[in-house]
Amino acid sequence: MTTTPVIDGIHLHARLAALARVGAIDGGGCARLALTDADRDGRDLVVGWMRAQGLAVTVDAIGNVFAIRAGREDGPPVMTGSHIDTVRTGGRFDGNYGVLAGLEVCRALDAAGLVTRRPLCVAFFTNEEGARFQPDMMGSLVHAGGLSLQEAYAATDTSGVRLGDELERIGYRGQAAPGAIRPRAFVELHIEQGPVLEEAGYTIGAVTGVQGISWHEFVVSGTAAHAGTTPMRLRHDAGYVAAAAATYVRQLTHDMGGAQVGTVGVSELRPNLINVIANHARFTVDLRNTDEALLRQAEQRTFATIEAVAQAEGVTVERRRLARFEPVVFDATMVARVERVARAHGHDPMRLPSGAGHDAQMMARLCPTAMIFVPSVKGLSHNVAEYTAPADLDAGAAVLLDVLLELAQA
Ligand SMILES: [Zn+2]
Repeated sequence: MTTTPVIDGIHLHARLAALARVGAIDGGGCARLALTDADRDGRDLVVGWMRAQGLAVTVDAIGNVFAIRAGREDGPPVMTGSHIDTVRTGGRFDGNYGVLAGLEVCRALDAAGLVTRRPLCVAFFTNEEGARFQPDMMGSLVHAGGLSLQEAYAATDTSGVRLGDELERIGYRGQAAPGAIRPRAFVELHIEQGPVLEEAGYTIGAVTGVQGISWHEFVVSGTAAHAGTTPMRLRHDAGYVAAAAATYVRQLTHDMGGAQVGTVGVSELRPNLINVIANHARFTVDLRNTDEALLRQAEQRTFATIEAVAQAEGVTVERRRLARFEPVVFDATMVARVERVARAHGHDPMRLPSGAGHDAQMMARLCPTAMIFVPSVKGLSHNVAEYTAPADLDAGAAVLLDVLLELAQA
């Protein structure tokens, strides 16, 4: 006998709390950088839950983990999932929520005695955050065929440790070929990580796509000299170029308006002394836009300005690309499905683009894809104070359940 499947919110919250204890840091957050011991411990915990639920677990060669709940028919599964790695000062919901909610969907179906027509798959992808190894969203990018295993293995962290070696060390270099499981459709449930839903008073976001991301690092080489005796016209000040770049990026976002955002998040000077002109500066520029042509324009204007300032200052500047992803537009039918299901649950959904990168944008290369957002209190994320109200977590998981159910029964 089957009953209507319902999400067990208490169980979901308990598992989120249990996973948050792995790599716990002060303030209620988590530090499970990709492929560290803490990441391994988090993986072991979640894989244990997958197996205990009777799901068939596969690990691929980049360490992505797939848990399959068999359907009445074989063939491509309907997939959900996210990531369980975190940044160094991460919260407990980013990524983890989507993975654990996917497992709750399977538990709800089990409890209801329901076997879907298509198989369901709950996945977590390796190194989504990119906080230790770049690029970010690496596991899903490899899965989608956008990065070779060799390139991914060769990525090194700041101490020179290779990703491939770390994957082996923590026991998650699996046998399966990346991309072997090609889903029928992919749905990722995630916290918004921004303030838009909360500010506008919505519980469910139907995500229309993900904005494009451009990450570059600049290294400026000038000349160290005495801050008192060196005339201004004779200076080759690397620190000045870094500061001018930061100011320009802010001005650029103001001039372009619209969806353009820009950030200089790293700025380091050497020798970093009060009375010495800096001979070395390293800074990063993060540019994002939902429109590829505008993003390219922002890049070109930024690069040209930094070059011009450097030339005028008589210093050299080297530019290195750290990551670059074009904007992604999600499948219109899938987005409409999320909206319709949300309405059936009594929510008025809000359409919005994602400001952050997500595994779903890689999966969108393979199959119809959508994302469901729930509010982040004060928009905080990548912060130990990251929080989403339990009722909102439950609401998102309930929408995920019905979206997956529709797709798996179709
Ligand atoms: Zn995330």
